[in-house]
Amino acid sequence: MQPDVVIVPCDQYTVEACKDALVRVLAPIGGLDWVHAGMRVAIKANLVSHMKPEKAATTHPAMLCALVQLLRQRGAEVVIGDSPGGLYNSAYVGSVYRATGMHAVEQYGGKLNEDFSQAIAENPDGMVCKRFQYTAYLDQADAIINFCKLKSHGMMGMSNAAKNLFGVIPGTMKPEFHFQFPDAADFARMIVDLDEYFKPVLSICDAVVGMEGNGPTAGTPRKIGAVLASRSPHKLDLACAKIIGLEIHQVPTLAAALERGLIPERVADLDICGTLEDWIVPDFQLVENRNSLQFQNLLPGVLGKWTGGTVKRLLGSTPRVNAKECIGCKKCHDICPAKAITMKQNLPNIDRKRCIRCFCCQEFCPKGAMKVHRPIIARILNK
Ligand code: SF4
Ligand code: SF4
Repeated sequence: MQPDVVIVPCDQYTVEACKDALVRVLAPIGGLDWVHAGMRVAIKANLVSHMKPEKAATTHPAMLCALVQLLRQRGAEVVIGDSPGGLYNSAYVGSVYRATGMHAVEQYGGKLNEDFSQAIAENPDGMVCKRFQYTAYLDQADAIINFCKLKSHGMMGMSNAAKNLFGVIPGTMKPEFHFQFPDAADFARMIVDLDEYFKPVLSICDAVVGMEGNGPTAGTPRKIGAVLASRSPHKLDLACAKIIGLEIHQVPTLAAALERGLIPERVADLDICGTLEDWIVPDFQLVENRNSLQFQNLLPGVLGKWTGGTVKRLLGSTPRVNAKECIGCKKCHDICPAKAITMKQNLPNIDRKRCIRCFCCQEFCPKGAMKVHRPIIARILNK
C-alpha cells in the first residue's frame, strides 16, 4: 500500500538536486509510472505575483524545470500555468512569468500557458460552489499536477496544496469569490470544492525554502529543506501544517477537508514515509491571524452561532496599514472586493464595517505595508 505522504530532504535549488528529490519523493507513491507518451500534463504552480524566486512566494523554477524534465523523459507534453491576482491575459500573466523566472522551463521542453480563455464548470456535487468560471487551459490536460509552495497566509493560516487550486479562478474574478464567501470557513469549503472538482493526480510541495511571517507574498524566506508529495492535497496539507506549527482548527481548508472525511482527525494517523518530526520548524513565524474557528461553538446551537459571530467581530484579526512602509500605490484600494478602502492623503483608510477580512489587501500589497493585526485581547484569550 502506498503511504499518504512522502517527505524527503532537498537543500538547494539546482535542477539536479530538485530532480533527485522529486524522484525520491514520488517513488513511494508510484513515481511517474502513470505518465505515457503523448499525455498532456498541466502543472498548476503557485505564481501568486511578480516575485523573484528568492522571495519564496512562488514555486521555484528549478523545481518546475526538474519536474518538466522527468515528465518529458516519459514523452508527455507539459504546460505550466496559474492565474495570479490581476488580469488574466497574456500581457499580465506574461509579466509574472518573467518576474518569477518561469521561462527557464522552456529549456527543458515545458510550455508556459498562453491560452487565457475561460470556461464554466457546473459542479452539483460541490458543497458551496456549484457553478464557477475557471482557466480553460486545464481542459486540455489529461492530468493535473498541483505544485505548491509552503507559506504562511493571512486569511487561511497556511498557503499550500489545497489553497493553490484557488489559482484556477481567473484573477479578475477572485475578489468576487471573496465577496461571495466572506467567512473563512465557507471560503475554505469553496476551495475544497475546487480541489475535489479538479482532482490533481499529484500534489507536490516545494518546502526547500518556505515563507514565514507576513505571507503569502510579503513574508520572509525560511529554509525548511524538504520536498513533500501526496496523492491528496489535503493529506499533504495536514503534514505541512504540522511542520509549521498549525493545528487543523487553525487552517480552515483543513477543517473543511476534515468535515468531508478527506483527512484523519490527527496527523499521527497519516501514513508518512519519512520522519515528519525531523522537519518541524518550532519557531516558524505565522501570520497573526486566528479567525472565528477558534471561538466558534463555545456554546451550542443558535447561541453558539451568535457568540461565534460577535466574538469574531470583536476579536477577529483585521488589516492595518503601516504608514511608514506604504507608498500610496492604491493597489489595496483597487483589489478590495468589498470596496472598503478609500485613499486619504495617499494612505489607505479601511471602513471596518464594510471589510470582510479577506486580506487581499495584505496579500497583494507590493511593499508588505498592509499587516494582519490581531487584537491584544484575542492573543491573550488564545493563550
Ligand atoms: S497596496 Fe500597500 S503600499 Fe500600496 S497603498 Fe496599499 S498599503 Fe500602501
Ligand atoms: S480592506 Fe482588505 S481585508 Fe478588508 S475587504 Fe478589503 S481587501 Fe479584504
